[in-house]
Amino acid sequence: MTATSELRWRVRERPDYTHVEFTGAFDENANFPALLGKLSGAVVFDLGGISRINSAGIREWIAFLRALRPRVSDLVFTHCTPPFVTQLNSIYNFRGTARIESFFAPYVCRKCGSEEAKLLLAKNLSKQRDLSPPAFACEECGHSMDLDETADRFFSFLRDS
Ligand SMILES: [Zn+2]
Repeated sequence: MTATSELRWRVRERPDYTHVEFTGAFDENANFPALLGKLSGAVVFDLGGISRINSAGIREWIAFLRALRPRVSDLVFTHCTPPFVTQLNSIYNFRGTARIESFFAPYVCRKCGSEEAKLLLAKNLSKQRDLSPPAFACEECGHSMDLDETADRFFSFLRDS
């Protein structure tokens, strides 16, 4: 196992909430119960460092969110990575009671092949009826970039927010 895949978190107490920054993988080694006792009230999970999620990790995560429910009054997810969004779109209960604030969407430039993950705010997209991806210009060549996923499918979790 490489150091980069091991799940880690950094907990910071802010005046109004607890901020938790996750990095690594959700897998059978993820020790979520060790985090449980540190959390109560309003909690924000920054998921921008989540690289990989397997089926054991999904089970652990859902059990963790269920255990959080009586302790945490308000739960927000930010910076959800594409692997995390994929699970949001396919696994019932993957978000628990959380509100999704922001997430990364994979974009590609069809002209030069440049790829980039763009941070999108859920509230900006949820306001639209058709959930069309926002436009970005390629930083390499200036050409317009395309969402490298089917918009309807990749954004489908926003319909539940
Ligand atoms: Zn380009």
